[in-house]
Amino acid sequence: MSDKGRAQDATGSLWSFTALPPPATQRLEASLRTDVAIIGGGYTGLSTALHLAELGIKPAVLEAFSVGHGASGRNGGHINAGTKYDPVELKGKFPADVAQKMIDFSSAAPDVTFDLISRFQIGCDALRTGWILPAHNHAALDALKRRADAWQSHAADVRVLSADEVAERIGTDRYVGGIIDLRCGNIQPLSFVRGLARAAINSGALVFSDTPATALTRAEGGWRVKTPKGEVLADHVVIATNGYTDGLWPRLQQSVLPVNSFQIATAPLAVGDNQKILPQLNTVSDSRRIMLYYRKDREGRLVIGGRGRFREPRGLHDYGHLMRSLRWLFPQLSSQPIDHFWSGRVAITYDHLPHIHQPERGITIALGYNGRGVAMATAMGKRIAEHIHGASDSLPFVPSQITPIPFHRFNRLATSAAIGWYTFRDGIDALKR
Ligand SMILES: Cc1cc2nc3c(=O)[nH]c(=O)nc-3n(C[C@H](O)[C@H](O)[C@H](O)COP(=O)(O)OP(=O)(O)OC[C@H]3O[C@@H](n4cnc5c(N)ncnc54)[C@H](O)[C@@H]3O)c2cc1C
Repeated sequence: MSDKGRAQDATGSLWSFTALPPPATQRLEASLRTDVAIIGGGYTGLSTALHLAELGIKPAVLEAFSVGHGASGRNGGHINAGTKYDPVELKGKFPADVAQKMIDFSSAAPDVTFDLISRFQIGCDALRTGWILPAHNHAALDALKRRADAWQSHAADVRVLSADEVAERIGTDRYVGGIIDLRCGNIQPLSFVRGLARAAINSGALVFSDTPATALTRAEGGWRVKTPKGEVLADHVVIATNGYTDGLWPRLQQSVLPVNSFQIATAPLAVGDNQKILPQLNTVSDSRRIMLYYRKDREGRLVIGGRGRFREPRGLHDYGHLMRSLRWLFPQLSSQPIDHFWSGRVAITYDHLPHIHQPERGITIALGYNGRGVAMATAMGKRIAEHIHGASDSLPFVPSQITPIPFHRFNRLATSAAIGWYTFRDGIDALKR
């Protein structure tokens, strides 16, 4: 790994080299009383804090490490719309009113995110250029066209692209066509989460770093959150720990699979390559079983990500699949230096949808964005704040029981095996195209 690949902060990501500085935060070293204690300083927690503060409710965020230490500071920065399922699939799975809420929420999540960025002037290189989903074969293209149809019938600006249009927009002829979703865009994710923290603090929220919540017990009609050097007494607690969930709340850790997503970033592309590859700065997620996602940053680095090993990476060999994908997509970049390598944890749920739990009075938990949390977690924070403020109908998903994934430990092994198998089958598909 080059010098540039060494961590500037705990995330070790490209973003930590190009982000806005974090707001000043400190460890909690006192006992404090507040309205809402929020555990986790990512998009969910900080957006909840910001919106609560705007509603006149006092929040305190407790983050075990630094703001954006989790997925919010490490992700690809793609602002996507929708859940894993398109509107037709959601309507097939849930009663009409429940499905409609999910559709409306997930469709509007990019609007909520871009609105916040503009309202608080968060300098995070936000661009609303559209998300391309290219197809690696004709069966995948048919499925994508159905997805475009389903969204168009909900007035979303989602269009079908020919093979030539995809080739021109991405700069590779590896795909047979695709769709573009113009609700979507991209950001510098660590700058965004730091900007959210700054906006929350300026609106009156307290944000503590280096402050893990270690125990949660009932107290004085509310809850006591213990930390190593202090405690918070609050009427309400929001747990926003997603793929970094620990044993704080019974069985919560077993309700999600924390799957690693790995990313690499090239050195800035030479002028000619930069003009050909993603000239309109779209984001891309391709249709293979083991999804590959990529984009460029503001300096013209290509940032490419995909599932990695279940465990944390141990060396550059763990990123070999991404380097092979890079060469497959853009052979002209075969000797392009790779300057940054990092990973983070995505929270996968058994039904591939986000979950809200309210296991006891005064406790709200939101997690499980299944790799689509940049916009949804941000929008979720707004809805949780409105709910705590008293809006009866603001939660976008019906609160469910915390359900541990059966054989959680073995599921981790099964997921590793499945990743290997699907990677193999993607390789066969690529030969067949
Ligand atoms: C590599 C990668 C790429 C991704 N790319 C995209 C993308 O391009 N587009 C997209 O939409 N989504 C993407 N995602 C998913 C997205 O980043 C997440 O869904 C989103 O950031 C979740 O935000 P969050 O606030 O819920 O959780 P997180 O950002 O993970 O924050 C949880 C926080 O809780 C803290 N915590 C845990 N336990 C405790 C405790 N006991 N006390 C105090 N603090 C605690 C952790 O330290 C962490 O900071 C990606 C994720 C990864 C990992």
